[in-house]
Amino acid sequence: MDLTLTAEEQAFRDELRAWIEANHPGPKPDSDEAAFEFRRAWQRTVFDAGWAGVAWPQEYGGRGATLVEQAIYGEEMVRARAPALANGLGLAMGGPVVIAHGTEEQKQRYLGPILSAEEIWCQGFSEPQSGSDLASLRTKAVRDGDEWVVTGQKVWTTLAHEAKWCMLVARTDPDAPKHKGLTYFLMDMKQPGVQVRPLVQITGEAEFNELFIEEARIPNDNIVGGEGNGWAVAITTLAHERAGLALALQMELKQLLTAVIERAREQPYNGSTAAADEIIRDRLAQLYIETEVLRLNAYRGLTAQMKYGVPGPEGSLGKWHWAEINQALTELATEIEGPAAMARDGRWTYEFLRARANSIEGGTTEILKNIVAERILGLPRMR
Ligand SMILES: Cc1cc2nc3c(=O)[nH]c(=O)nc-3n(C[C@H](O)[C@H](O)[C@H](O)COP(=O)(O)OP(=O)(O)OC[C@H]3O[C@@H](n4cnc5c(N)ncnc54)[C@H](O)[C@@H]3O)c2cc1C
Repeated sequence: MDLTLTAEEQAFRDELRAWIEANHPGPKPDSDEAAFEFRRAWQRTVFDAGWAGVAWPQEYGGRGATLVEQAIYGEEMVRARAPALANGLGLAMGGPVVIAHGTEEQKQRYLGPILSAEEIWCQGFSEPQSGSDLASLRTKAVRDGDEWVVTGQKVWTTLAHEAKWCMLVARTDPDAPKHKGLTYFLMDMKQPGVQVRPLVQITGEAEFNELFIEEARIPNDNIVGGEGNGWAVAITTLAHERAGLALALQMELKQLLTAVIERAREQPYNGSTAAADEIIRDRLAQLYIETEVLRLNAYRGLTAQMKYGVPGPEGSLGKWHWAEINQALTELATEIEGPAAMARDGRWTYEFLRARANSIEGGTTEILKNIVAERILGLPRMR
């Protein structure tokens, strides 16, 4: 890939950079609820200015930007430390899935409110007995006239407590082989058959939830990609989840690394500063190299997506690599910080604890290694 920006790409970047500088809403409030509303308002501002869904087609409210421009967008938002947009799952997965597999009516109905954050989305895939082995899921949907009646349980459902729509995969044919009997639905969360119970994480936040579904009803029109085709649509969702993140994540890592280096320069350590310690210097240098590798691999993934039109398995490699670097970096940060890192509310304690989830969320590292082994290296399939 040619990493030099064209004149148009530079103009895109400059325009966006100036816009963010003029409109940055400042630091987010502390409480979970206020922070979410702050991010929702920020997304509305971004949307009103035409910067939400940059690579989505213009006829659905996007900007029709190229994938390179989308990558620039992710980098610029992180560079400016702009708040994350509220509807992260809708933007990264819900919208792209509806664009790829939805009907024209579905595109007209769902894409606009995702962009404006009017309707928040969540992802109902994982169940208590089905995480990595998603195809074994048991939530069932039974046809009743023009509707489906859904019963089951989902878990770890990020943002379910704010969501209007859930990307729900359910079993519609219990007699078909496990990958074939699944269907992908858009379930209205605001109905009596859906109960949401928050789960508190190790950080003290409650980002995700348990979802109890008791005879919830979904119109037949809310199937995406056709009955029995849920596995293929779910795979598209996961590919977008991993591919879309890589470039923004490497930029976030760079910022974190810069902050750790600054901290190391100040922190007293063995009679000098942490930054003067040879082993710490060595670990910081290694993390810098790893972050650069992550960035270049993210560009490699982008090139493949431009060539083939869909995100490839490179996203799995990037997500695995990012989780490892972020965990190693936050671990080093707490070591540099010393006993002060034990304080519950410290920044580095938070970063360290939150990073624990990185090798689980969006596919565990072991599963990503299997994908890389089978689909990138061409090693024999596990089963
Ligand atoms: C912060 C966070 C947010 C999340 N948000 C969502 C969400 O919004 N929606 C959603 O649906 N899910 C969400 N998840 C769930 C996440 O996708 C699952 O936790 C993940 O897929 C793993 O599933 P599991 O927890 O059931 O673990 P299991 O699949 O039971 O795995 C347990 C262990 O066994 C290993 N293992 C399993 N199978 C294999 C294999 N074939 N080869 C080698 N090792 C294997 C795993 O790597 C892991 O170490 C979230 C998780 C986290 C941590």
